[in-house]
Amino acid sequence: MNISDQISVTAKQHPEKTAYIFEGNETSYLELEGMINKFADSLVGLGYQKGDHLALVVGNSPHFVIGLYGALRAGIIVIPINPIYTPDEISYILQNGDVKGIVTMDMLAGKFAQISDVLEDAEHIIIAETGAGTDTGSTILSEKMKSFSKLMEEGNIHFDRPELREDDIALVLYTSGTTGKPKGAMLTHRNLYSNAKDTADYLEMDGGDKVIAALPMFHVFCLTVALNAPLMNGGTVLIVPKFSPEAVFKLAKEQQATVFAGVPTMYNYLLQTPGGHADDFQSIRLCISGGAAMPVALLKHFEQKFGVMISEGYGLSEASPVTCFNPLDRARKPGSIGTNIKNVENKVVDELGNELPPGEVGELVVRGPNVMAGYYKLPEETEAVLRDGWLHTGDMARMDDEGYFYIVDRRKDMILVGGYNVYPREVEEVLYEHPDIAEVAVVGMPDPDQGESVVTFVVTENNALKASDVITFCGERLAKYKVPAVVEFLDELPKNTTGKILRKQLRDKVAQL
Ligand code: AMP
Repeated sequence: MNISDQISVTAKQHPEKTAYIFEGNETSYLELEGMINKFADSLVGLGYQKGDHLALVVGNSPHFVIGLYGALRAGIIVIPINPIYTPDEISYILQNGDVKGIVTMDMLAGKFAQISDVLEDAEHIIIAETGAGTDTGSTILSEKMKSFSKLMEEGNIHFDRPELREDDIALVLYTSGTTGKPKGAMLTHRNLYSNAKDTADYLEMDGGDKVIAALPMFHVFCLTVALNAPLMNGGTVLIVPKFSPEAVFKLAKEQQATVFAGVPTMYNYLLQTPGGHADDFQSIRLCISGGAAMPVALLKHFEQKFGVMISEGYGLSEASPVTCFNPLDRARKPGSIGTNIKNVENKVVDELGNELPPGEVGELVVRGPNVMAGYYKLPEETEAVLRDGWLHTGDMARMDDEGYFYIVDRRKDMILVGGYNVYPREVEEVLYEHPDIAEVAVVGMPDPDQGESVVTFVVTENNALKASDVITFCGERLAKYKVPAVVEFLDELPKNTTGKILRKQLRDKVAQL
């Protein structure tokens, strides 16, 4: 089984059901199935074969959905790329990913015009028309351009699909790239299918669910939890083109949404938005958080205000992505990423790979049908993370007696102060309890005496809040070596489009202090 075939099954069982809603327009499963076939057929007509690489540089829209599943149905390997990447960032992935073609949107064509040398290697650039107009600006672009809507008109609704094997590669995901050059995690059809299924089962998602897809679709969190999972179960995807609290509240109310998936920064925006009320989320039965640590204070304030439970989970691109979630049928533990989802095992190990007993901190490793095949063209990097049959996540964690895992921090974010480990997350959790602090991030700074010291970046609306107040607040709650030596105030924290804080940029700022 693969996701694309599963959508066909859903389309047979529930042809009239709504697969997705975009800007108020509903598309049924039968219509979606037809469009997937037509797009797959057009790609084959253009000369694409099973195993070719196609970049998908498209924002949250039906074009993304059709482009993705159309290509997958034809056995084409999809490389989703963040549309807000710079031309240089896009070039890197197009070249490293050996793409044969690109699917993008009219308003992004100008970006591609700037990298025409890279486009020499691509055979087509398929432009989805949104009405924003196409800024071609280069001859090479116009020569290779194909119209998405024309391809859809020409494609045959009866598509003769190639046989897809479980271990055929479906996606190459260039991982967030918050540090270093992005690497392409290769996910198979089995990886995608199993993770969407196992996550949906664990979170009790079924055909009755209407899931808000406000996270960027090119990111695997949205792709698995808010696209694959609802579509394979006959649920409805509510597509949000661009996240804003107002858009989410409006959609949730109008469409009686049942599930919202977001990263912690989104929950923070929803919470801080003055217009937000509990009745905006009245129909929501479950909020899902992942992608970054959910501060306990934020979780509690959000749940109090909106009267809905947040289940925090954990994942990474290399695991398609979900490995853990807080269960719905047992206790939910704030601050924890929950327990193993079905078919997936997590454990905490020491440097030698030995499993550690509950309570001890070590590296989190993962095993299951969701673990990637490897990094594209990087055998050494693959060997470094896929050891002894386990994916080494690079995240430090501990497990409690009941099998709940807690992410302590990323191994590389740990700060060493006078020989003691300081995990930024612990300090951040404390600072989130401060009533005047809206957002916070902690990084290390070189220190001649202690090796490193703690620096905290704070976002506040209270101009009267002083660095000394922040230090005193921490001093009352944390051991001395964990207390920030420097407090810097910022208007906002640098984040990537998935809402992850860009710690590297903060470290660069620290270097300039
Ligand atoms: P990505 O591959 O872009 O999805 O990033 C994966 C990384 O996000 C993980 O290795 C973790 O460092 C981080 N992450 C994801 N979920 C959580 C969570 N619930 N708590 C803490 N960190 C998380």
